[in-house]
Amino acid sequence: METGIERTIFTVTDLKQYAYCPRIVYYAYCLPLLRPTTYKMEAGVAAHAEAKERERRRTLTAYGLVEGERHFDMWVTSERLGLQGRIDLVIETGTVERREWIPVDYKQTVRLAASHYKRQLAAYGLMLEETFGGTARRGFIYSLITRKAEEITLTERLRNDVRETIAAMREMIEREAMPEPPTTRRPCLNCEFRRFCNDVL
Ligand code: SF4
Repeated sequence: METGIERTIFTVTDLKQYAYCPRIVYYAYCLPLLRPTTYKMEAGVAAHAEAKERERRRTLTAYGLVEGERHFDMWVTSERLGLQGRIDLVIETGTVERREWIPVDYKQTVRLAASHYKRQLAAYGLMLEETFGGTARRGFIYSLITRKAEEITLTERLRNDVRETIAAMREMIEREAMPEPPTTRRPCLNCEFRRFCNDVL
């Protein structure tokens, strides 16, 4: 594998995994790994597809909007950040001069306030702005369980959090140093990578 660290393009999923446990990102980039497709992942794909069908049939009132154009499964890339990802839904609104992009992330949870969800949205916002211009001041996390959307302001603090997390992932991979496990073992119990972590289980 070419390991020139400046050429590594992370995914937004990496950001999520890193928040769960940095070792998962370490394994993905520093060790050869075949990751199985689990039932959980397949169920998630089906739930997202259903949500998109429902989304197409309703108005934008869940997002406090009267009008806007929906773009599903939009791929975005940032050369600046070295990051790419696919956004469940992007709502394009505003005028040509003042275009606004609103990323929406579907989640199979009722706990929408988690900081790593907000970080993901901020990452999408940064990539939308870099790719298309305009602004991404806010986004939504949409619960597939409650079918409710929560608005998240994409603050400078959240944006810096994205930049700092990517820098930390990059440094970890460059040094090829396996990070410490989480302080509690709870994340390990359902972790697909636990067979690699003989020191924790
Ligand atoms: S088993 Fe625990 S330490 Fe190992 S990757 Fe999973 S969460 Fe991290």
